[in-house]
Amino acid sequence: MERIYVDNSATTAVSEKAFSAMLPYFREKFGNPSAIHSYGQEAKKALEDSRNTVAKAIGAYNNEIYFTSGGTESNNWAINGVCQLKKDKGKHIISSAVEHSAVLRTLEKLELRGYSITLLKTDKNGGISPEQLQNAIREDTILVSIMMANNVVGTLMPVKELCDTAHKHGVLFHTDAVQAITHIPIDVHYLGIDLLSMSAHKLHGPKGVGALFIRLPLHLPPYHTGGGQEKGLRSGTENVPGAAGMAVAVEEGVTALPAVTNSITSLRDKLIENILKIPGAYLTGDPVERLPGLASFVFENIESALLINELNEAGICASPGSACSASAKEGPHVLSAMGYDDDIARSALRISLSAYNTEQEMNYIIDKLPPMVAELRKNRLY
Ligand SMILES: *Cc1c(COP(=O)(O)O)cnc(C)c1O
Repeated sequence: MERIYVDNSATTAVSEKAFSAMLPYFREKFGNPSAIHSYGQEAKKALEDSRNTVAKAIGAYNNEIYFTSGGTESNNWAINGVCQLKKDKGKHIISSAVEHSAVLRTLEKLELRGYSITLLKTDKNGGISPEQLQNAIREDTILVSIMMANNVVGTLMPVKELCDTAHKHGVLFHTDAVQAITHIPIDVHYLGIDLLSMSAHKLHGPKGVGALFIRLPLHLPPYHTGGGQEKGLRSGTENVPGAAGMAVAVEEGVTALPAVTNSITSLRDKLIENILKIPGAYLTGDPVERLPGLASFVFENIESALLINELNEAGICASPGSACSASAKEGPHVLSAMGYDDDIARSALRISLSAYNTEQEMNYIIDKLPPMVAELRKNRLY
């Protein structure tokens, strides 16, 4: 059976170009970038070229980009790093209740260490307003961490306004841009952001590599200690093939962004238009300010896990919202934080597209989904 992959917010296929770009650095050019000989030099060059490419894609300087093992590490580093840096200023952090678990679990741990955490609830569409943030800022606030685009419902946050609000009070601003980069244009210096997290595997790069942007002259303390790689801030022999693959994927993604935005927005809107014809189906997230490739829904009298199973049987690979919420007893935390009650939050379906999806695939989904929902509801009413 042909399979349709519409879970691109969970991970993506590595692009052909990114894959080819990685290959030489496994065998022929396998050197350690810290070595002085020619093997080391060619690896070092690949690493620095990759850094330039990633920097350019978000309007940063190359010495503001640090390679990490992915989005989770970048979020951990940004948040814990600021705590260390600002330990004399205060212990209050503001974030949102709809963040990825890499942010939420990190904040929970800090709370156990005496930090005070404010998690802003969102409006019904998953948004947070600058006024809301303004009201939460205190004398002892050291960091605001709010994601650029939500991974469950696709809502885009007004990061420029949120960042300006934080800065007005002398507070640093971090954003988890894992779902946003290559999907919406990003210019870190225009936005004014201090710290920004990225991950390669959400944008057709390889798994296990990402980056943290740290705006100069901000100087975070090191995350790892050891051999002093990444200017002493992130020790450990660099993942050269990963960085090379990430750079190519980021560059491809940013170059193709305008065209791909048009094409996947129209696929997304076709899905939304047709799926909303199902009785008791509702769009979640902001109807306008949303990721171009993300369509997310809830359905009355439907259990997510059962629906995802049925879709899978039909060859359609989608998810409830986040990769880890599938088995959770309560509905995804994101929908709860947006004000949905538990029952409806447990019926979420996320269809996340990439440039590789086709209109035919959308037609197949639109064809299969309505009778599936009807059948599941009938079976529920015995
Ligand atoms: C996937 C994801 C992460 C984690 O990135 P990894 O590279 O898998 O560690 C963080 N934040 C968001 C919004 C994500 O979607």
